[in-house]
Amino acid sequence: MKIGVLALQGDFAEHIVMLRRLKVEPVEVRLPGHLKGLDGLIIPGGESTTIGKLAVAYDLMEPLRLFGQRHAIWGTCAGAIFLSKDVSRDQPLLGLMDIKVERNAFGRQLDSFEADLDIPELKQATGTANPYHAIFIRAPIIESVSGEARVLSSVADGRIVAAQQGHFLATSFHPELTDDTRFHEYFLSLAD
Ligand code: GLN
Repeated sequence: MKIGVLALQGDFAEHIVMLRRLKVEPVEVRLPGHLKGLDGLIIPGGESTTIGKLAVAYDLMEPLRLFGQRHAIWGTCAGAIFLSKDVSRDQPLLGLMDIKVERNAFGRQLDSFEADLDIPELKQATGTANPYHAIFIRAPIIESVSGEARVLSSVADGRIVAAQQGHFLATSFHPELTDDTRFHEYFLSLAD
């Protein structure tokens, strides 16, 4: 299996390390031609406005939308923002997922935090019972899901932090910054 990682800005290198650990061939995607032959794509965390502006500058917006019609895409943090339809601000978005996102939603004092999440799909897919330890860094929340999108996980106060829509995944947190490969394994099962 060949999985691309959008390598315009952000922590794409950490996703590449995770994919190698799972014996998957990672491909750094910077230009439309790099999408050829890929089975799925990960959009990393970083700064969603910068990722969006660079995607426009490199003529990647339409190729990414077309890629999403047939292939799995997973956005972590800034990547989840970039995948969404609505962030209540003017910035380039792929608009592939029926989710509304609020950027930097956890407030300054909680810019970064960690939480154990219960994600039944993940446990089921990987045959494990332990909770998923998630790292949030200036994280967005998924304010609402609509259409075909559904909630995968919420934090204790009910705010949504992971969603899925068919072969699209959005997570507010950063599985690439942990040692736990389960979320990457789950994504690979969607890309298969
Ligand atoms: N705060 C960033 C944004 O709004 C996302 C942060 C991250 O990816 N860790 O784009």
